[in-house]
Amino acid sequence: MKDFRIIQAMLAPLARRAATDLTSLTRFVTAASRRPSHSVRRAVATTASAAMADDKFSLPERYKGTEKNIWVEFIQLALEHKPLNLGQGFPDYGCPKHVTEGLAEVMHDPNLLLNQYTRGYGHPRLVNALAKLYSGLLDRTIDPFTEVLVSQGAYGCLYNAILGHVKPGDEVIIIEPFFDCYQPMVKIAGGTPVFVPLRPRQDAAARADGALSSADWVLDPAELRAAFGPRTKMIILNTPNNPLGKVFTRPELELIAELCQSHNALCLSDEVYEWMVFKPAEHIRIAGLPGMWDRTITVGSAGKTFSVTGWKLGWAYGPAKLMHNLQVVHQNTLYTCSTPLQEALARSFEHEMSLMGSPECYFTSLANDELRPKRDYMAQFLTDCGMKPVIPEGGYFMVADWTSLDKSKIDLSPYTPGKPDDHRFVYWLVHHHKLQGIPPSSFYSAEHKKLAEHYIRFCFIKDDKNLEKAESILKELKKSME
Ligand code: PMP
Ligand code: GLN
Repeated sequence: MKDFRIIQAMLAPLARRAATDLTSLTRFVTAASRRPSHSVRRAVATTASAAMADDKFSLPERYKGTEKNIWVEFIQLALEHKPLNLGQGFPDYGCPKHVTEGLAEVMHDPNLLLNQYTRGYGHPRLVNALAKLYSGLLDRTIDPFTEVLVSQGAYGCLYNAILGHVKPGDEVIIIEPFFDCYQPMVKIAGGTPVFVPLRPRQDAAARADGALSSADWVLDPAELRAAFGPRTKMIILNTPNNPLGKVFTRPELELIAELCQSHNALCLSDEVYEWMVFKPAEHIRIAGLPGMWDRTITVGSAGKTFSVTGWKLGWAYGPAKLMHNLQVVHQNTLYTCSTPLQEALARSFEHEMSLMGSPECYFTSLANDELRPKRDYMAQFLTDCGMKPVIPEGGYFMVADWTSLDKSKIDLSPYTPGKPDDHRFVYWLVHHHKLQGIPPSSFYSAEHKKLAEHYIRFCFIKDDKNLEKAESILKELKKSME
């Protein structure tokens, strides 16, 4: 037995090295097993299989560090505690009727081929509708077959764009706070993220009314300029931004455009909330700025545009030369998306495009009629309970400073030690008041998480009854602190 352990200890480093390469492992096992001693053979077999178990089936290096995911964590928390969930962003009430009815019609369509595979890069009727819509919005002719790609949600399009363009050694500038999947996707592609945070303007907090707006979060132009260099391949922009709700202004986009052009970099513009912008803010598509079409890939989402997040269809558009790389990734991963959903989405677009410019068009009514009152209501009840909301100019999330509550009454010590305070506060709120938000530090790099610790993100595309419930929960919270 002692003999066995000594041999095993001697062989272990050799086996570990060999296990990184299956051929040398096999060679090692074969050679070593030829020795006559039984204990040597046993030791070799045991050590080799332990080494294989350790290394052969471990997570590939490119995924290391991406194991944690906020959506997995917080959906699990909601399942366990059944709080009022204002965390994950999705509407908990209907979408436009014609969207779901349109899907039902597709299922009863005599054209049975609508249930079979469709064109890989996007169902023809859908890419035609998308090309028509964005040709009008950008005032240029977009080719539906070479300049538009449909994939599995905006996630799929972001993945295709990042994996299709970022090479090992490339740097990708990510503006913070950022939608969390950008960072792992850049890592998986072998790129290096370079983070540039939006920061609250110094004078904002001191304003007389004390009200904060997402417009107060700005880039430091010098910091942004310094982030660009010879290795910069791409910048990822998200306007309207999740989680802040910031809508980038023309001068801000012009600076990004100037830097992309002077450094020959691409812009990946995530515009999934393009139709949720509150006046006087205005959504500007960076692809439409002078010189930017040729270097911009823009991403959209059916889940956001039509309030059907479960449909998981998204699209990307841009010049054919750039889109080709996305098509290659797409055809080698998903190849094609669901035909009936794409057909129904195409019909939904056609319907809304026929209403374009009128107040009934969902692209107008969603922000003006549906979301704005919900946003204002949430801002009011968050303020009443003692938090300081940041009024978003777009999207359907609101971050609020929770540290203005009486912190002596909030004992974070039992919850997620070692995590940023906002993360711990989300757990505290779920455990004590059954209300769930999302910690904004999840949208920051490790080096900048501190910038988010005072905030919590709530989603307001929720049924009014649920917003009222949130209000009464927060009233109780306030009372419990008196
Ligand atoms: N980008 C942003 C900014 C988002 O908030 C989301 C969440 N939906 C996505 C991309 C992913 O969208 P989809 O559900 O269409 O994949
Ligand atoms: N975009 C949504 C949010 O930010 C949902 C994200 C997700 O489910 N992965 O909440």
